[in-house]
Amino acid sequence: MPKKDNESYLNYKKRVIDPVSSSFCGAKWLNTTIWLTNGATASCHHPPSHLIELEEVQKNPAALHNTTFKKIKRLQMLKGIRPTECEYCWRIEDMGPDFISDRVFKTIIYSDEDLKKIAEQSWNQDVIPKTMEIAFDRACNFACVYCNPNFSTTWDNEIKKFGAYENLGNKNHYIPSDPRMRDAENNPYVEAFWKWWPKLSQELEEIRITGGEPLLSRETWRLLEHFEKNPNSGMRVAINSNLGVKKAYIKKLAEQSQYLRDLHLYTSLEAVGKEAEYIRDGLNFEDWKNNLEYLAENARLTSLNVMMTVNALSVFSTVEFLDFIKEFKSRHGRGTGVISVNILRIPDFLSITTLPDKILAEFQEKLVKWYRANEKSDLFVDFELESIRRLIDYITEVTKPMSDYQPRHERMIYFKRFILEMDRRRQRDYRRVFPQNFSDWLDSVSI
Ligand code: SF4
Repeated sequence: MPKKDNESYLNYKKRVIDPVSSSFCGAKWLNTTIWLTNGATASCHHPPSHLIELEEVQKNPAALHNTTFKKIKRLQMLKGIRPTECEYCWRIEDMGPDFISDRVFKTIIYSDEDLKKIAEQSWNQDVIPKTMEIAFDRACNFACVYCNPNFSTTWDNEIKKFGAYENLGNKNHYIPSDPRMRDAENNPYVEAFWKWWPKLSQELEEIRITGGEPLLSRETWRLLEHFEKNPNSGMRVAINSNLGVKKAYIKKLAEQSQYLRDLHLYTSLEAVGKEAEYIRDGLNFEDWKNNLEYLAENARLTSLNVMMTVNALSVFSTVEFLDFIKEFKSRHGRGTGVISVNILRIPDFLSITTLPDKILAEFQEKLVKWYRANEKSDLFVDFELESIRRLIDYITEVTKPMSDYQPRHERMIYFKRFILEMDRRRQRDYRRVFPQNFSDWLDSVSI
C-alpha cells in the first residue's frame, strides 16, 4: 500500500478506533454473514462461523446476528481483549505498529456516528447490522469443482449417490453435507429472518444474497418483491448468481431489477468453452454468455461483475476468457463486466500450484503478453489490472515450496485421483477437454 494511504489509515485508527479500545472492530457489530441453511453466522468472513441457537432465535429473531457467542466477542473488544477468532488481524498487527489489518478497512466503511453508538451502548444490546450477506438456500444446479455439498444440492446428490471422495488427503471437502442442513421449506431460521426483516430493512444498508444459486430460491424472489412494494428503498442489493438458470428466471430478474435503485450483480467464470463447462459442471457456456448479454442490455444494474477463481483447470483458457471480457466491455463500457481475480487455495490440490513448472511458465508467459497488450487499455480499471499483475507475481512465487500446502508431489496424486473419480461419476474424459500437454502430464503422474 502507498505510504500516503497507509498514513491516512493509521490516522483514522488513532482518531476513531483506538479511543474505543486496542481491539475494537466495527465489523463485529455492523457486518454479518448468516447461513440460514444450517443456522450459522460470522462477522466478518475471517473468523470461522458459529452456530445460532435455535431456541434463542425463536424467541428473538435478532439473534440471527446477535448470538450470545458474538456478544461475548464484542465485550472482549470493548475491553481491549483480542478475540482469538480474529487471529487473522492480530497476526498482521503484530508485525509492527505501521501494519494495518482488516480491522481498520472493515471499520472505516461505517459512519463515525454509527461506530460511536455501538461503542457506547451496552455490550449485550442487539444491533441491526448495516451490511449483510445471506444464504437462504443451498439449492444449486451446478457442481463446480471446488464447491461442496454444503453449498450445492447438485454436489450433495452426487455424494449421496456415489459416496464421499476418498484418499484425497483432504478430510473435509467432498463429503456428505452437514447434517444440520435444512431445506428452505419449513426452515425456522428462514422464518426468523422474515420476522426480523420489517425492523432490519429500516436500517440495513446492504444485503448480498448468496447460496446455492439465489435465483432458484423462492426467498430471493420474496425479497425482491419487497423492493417492488418499496421502490424508494435505497438499500444496496447484491446477488451472486451462476447465470446458468432457465431464461425465465433471467428475464424475471431483469424485470424485478427495475424496482431496485442500487443492484449489483455478481457472476463467476474464469475459462471458456468446454473447459469452463468441465470446471463448473452444469454450465452451458453459450447460455451463460447470452444471459450475461441479456442482463447487460435489459436489467437496471449499478454494476455487473465477474468473479474469476483461477485454478489448475482454468489456466488453459484464462487468457481467452480475459479476451472475451474485453470484447464484452468494448460493447457495454468498462464498468460492465468488471473482473476480480481470486486465486483458488482450497482444496489445495486444485490450486495452480499443483501444476508442473512448465505448464505454469507457459501460463505466465501468456498472461504477461496479455497484460502488456492491455495495460494501457481504457476498458480495464486499475484494480482489474492490478489483480492480473498479482496473479503473474503469484506464479513466480509458487514455483518455490509452499509452507502451508501439502507437498506438491502429494497434491499431484490427489489431483489425479480426484479428476479420475470425477470423470467416472460424471461420465467425462479430461483428455477430450484439455490440451495435450495437460493430458500427457496427468497421464504421467502415478497414483
Ligand atoms: S478484527 Fe479482523 S477478523 Fe475480527 S471481525 Fe474485525 S476484520 Fe474480521
